[in-house]
Amino acid sequence: MIKINIATANGFTTEELKKVEAANSTLNNILNSEKFRERVLKFTTDGLFRFHYRRSFFGKWIDKPHTNHQVYEIVTQHSGADDAGVKQIDLHLELLPGGGEEHIGYTDTNTRKIFTYRDWFNSVSLAEYAGHLTHEWCHQLGFDHSPKPDPKREHSVPYGIGSITEAITLNY
Ligand SMILES: [Zn+2]
Repeated sequence: MIKINIATANGFTTEELKKVEAANSTLNNILNSEKFRERVLKFTTDGLFRFHYRRSFFGKWIDKPHTNHQVYEIVTQHSGADDAGVKQIDLHLELLPGGGEEHIGYTDTNTRKIFTYRDWFNSVSLAEYAGHLTHEWCHQLGFDHSPKPDPKREHSVPYGIGSITEAITLNY
């Protein structure tokens, strides 16, 4: 079992924290669901069961193949405690002023903090916010994507997992 734990949440108002809490319980349901596992295992790129896994290497993008099963195992691994089979994923969240449609947020992989811009946060649905959190969580795990929109970016692990999360949230 996976337990999403909001370890820290800074910069949120009491009202905004309600959305964070809702996303927390949504993510707990999704990451433990068979539906999530199935969608990750059946994710396709160019007709193959795989993600487009990109990493920057000396300024060049390389594609390191992981099977969908490996991606699932990595994405559902714990970052916090692992007690009695409960794998805990600790999330450190911070809300920043400003933002908008193209300015959603980012992850600092050193501090493991997920930053989200307030204007974007308050303009999107719970599903989009939940998708953003798993997208950024994937960055913390070392998955990356092209900085600019290109056909393969949607098939990267962060975008793929983010959109699976969003889709499942909408269908729950
Ligand atoms: Zn990203």
